[in-house]
Amino acid sequence: MSQRVYLFDTTLRDGEQSPGASLNMNEKIQIARQLAKLRVDIIEAGFPIASPGDFEAVSAIARNVKGVAVAGLARTYFEDIDRAWEAVRFADQARIHTFISTSDIHLEHQLRLTREQVLEAAVAAVKRAKSYTADVEFSAMDASRSDLGFLCQVLQAVIAAGATVVNIPDTVGYAVPEEWGRFINTICSKVTGIEKVIVSIHCHNDLGLAVANSLAAVTNGARQVEGTINGIGERAGNAALEEVVMTFRTRKDHFDYFTNVNTEEIYRTSRLVSSLTGMKVQANKAVVGKNAFAHESGIHQDGIIKERTTYEIMNPAMVGISKSNLVLGKLSGRHAFRQRLQGLGYNLSEDELNSAFIFFKKLADKKKNITNEDLEAIIDEEIRRIPHTYLLEYLHISSGTTIVPTATIGLKQDGRLMEEAACGNGPVDAICKAVDKITGLNCTLANWGINAVTAGKDALGDVTLRITIDGKKTYMGRGISTDILDASAKAYVNAVNKLVWENGQVKT
Ligand code: MN
Repeated sequence: MSQRVYLFDTTLRDGEQSPGASLNMNEKIQIARQLAKLRVDIIEAGFPIASPGDFEAVSAIARNVKGVAVAGLARTYFEDIDRAWEAVRFADQARIHTFISTSDIHLEHQLRLTREQVLEAAVAAVKRAKSYTADVEFSAMDASRSDLGFLCQVLQAVIAAGATVVNIPDTVGYAVPEEWGRFINTICSKVTGIEKVIVSIHCHNDLGLAVANSLAAVTNGARQVEGTINGIGERAGNAALEEVVMTFRTRKDHFDYFTNVNTEEIYRTSRLVSSLTGMKVQANKAVVGKNAFAHESGIHQDGIIKERTTYEIMNPAMVGISKSNLVLGKLSGRHAFRQRLQGLGYNLSEDELNSAFIFFKKLADKKKNITNEDLEAIIDEEIRRIPHTYLLEYLHISSGTTIVPTATIGLKQDGRLMEEAACGNGPVDAICKAVDKITGLNCTLANWGINAVTAGKDALGDVTLRITIDGKKTYMGRGISTDILDASAKAYVNAVNKLVWENGQVKT
C-alpha cells in the first residue's frame, strides 16, 4: 500500500539563511499562508531565540496560519527551548525542533564537548521540550559525518526521552545516494524504539544530490523530508520540495509514496518565494524554471503538437502553470483582468483589484501584450508591498559618455512633493544619491541586478537591489518598468520604504 511521506518546509528558516535573502514579518506571513495552501505538513517558521524579529515572525505565523504544524528551532539550551515554545505555543500543532551536533569534527573544533556531554544535553533538551508539547523533533547535526554507533546511541536516548521525530541531516551536503540510503537503513533497523517515531532527513545540495539523497532515504525508511521551495538555503541550498513531490507523483510506478501537497499550488509558491526573497529561479530549474516546459527543437515541437506526452513527462497544469493563450492588452476589460488574476491564484480585494487594474492599463499603453509574468510583477511590486512612505513621482536623467550623470527626482510623502538633484558615477548612483538627499538617509547600495521579466524589445526590466545602512541590516528592493533607470529608482525607493517601515525613520 502507498505510504505517506510528510513534508517539512524550512523555506522560512534554512531558506532565509541564504545569503541576502532576508524577509520581513509581513513577507514571512505571506509565504507561510501560501505554504499552508500548498499543504506542506510542517512549516519551520524560524529560530525564535536568534532575534526579536525572528521570535515575532514565528509567533505571528503560529497564531495566524492554521491547518498546518508550526515548528520553531532551538539549540539544546533551555532558554532556546523556552523561547521556541513561547513562539509556537498558539499553533494548531506546535512543534519544538531541537538540535545538537553529533560528529567528532564538530564536537572537537566547534562545541568542545565530549560525546557524553552531547548525549546528556540532547536528552535534557528533548525532556524540556516534551514538558511543553507532545510534538518534539530532534536533529543530530552533521549526522552524515558522525560515527554511526554514537549517532544510534544518541537517537535511541532521545527517543526514550520522548522525541517523536528524529531527523538525520546531511548538514554539509557530503552524502551520496547509495551510501546515504544504507546509512538510513542501518539507523532504521538498529535503533531501539525507532519504529515508534518518524525518521526524517534534511539534505543539502553541495554536490547537487540533495533531492537524490532524500529519495534514497525515503526508500530506506525515512518518512519526513525536509527541504525548501526552489531549493534555497545555506550555501548551495536544500532539497527542493517541489522536485521531491513531483518525482513521487510522476514516478508512481517506482515510488510507492505520496504527499499531501496540492501540486497545482507549486508554481504559485515558487514565484512568491522568488519574488519576496529576491532569489531568482534559474531558467533550467526542474519543475518551476522558466524553461522547464519549453520546447525548442523542431522535432520536439512537432511531437508536442501531435501529442503532449511525446516529450513531456509532467503536465504543466499539474504544477499550476496555466498555458492560456488569451492575450491581455490595452482593450481588455476589468472582467478578463480579474479572471486572469484568479487563474494565477490571486484573490485580491476590490481595492487591490482597482489599483492593480490602473497599473495594468498604464503598462498596456507602453507594451502591446501583457503576459502572466507581467501581471505577477504588477501584483508583487505594486500591490502586495509594504506601505509606500515615499512614492516616486518623476525622474529625469541626463547621462552620456562625456557628461557627469545627473538625476533629478521627485518623491511624494503624504501628498507632499519633494525634489532634489544629484550627480553620480553613473545614472544609478545619481538616482540613489538624489533619493538619499530627500529622505535624509545615507544608504549604501550593496548590489544591483537586472532581469528581463518577459521576452521582446518592449519587455519589462526587473531590477533587484540591496541597500544597507550603517553596515547593519540589508533591505531588498525591487522595481519593474519598461525603462531600466525608472525600474532602478523604483527598486531603490522600495528598499528605502522597507527600511523606513521597519525602523520608523521618516524625516519630517
Ligand atoms: Mn540546513
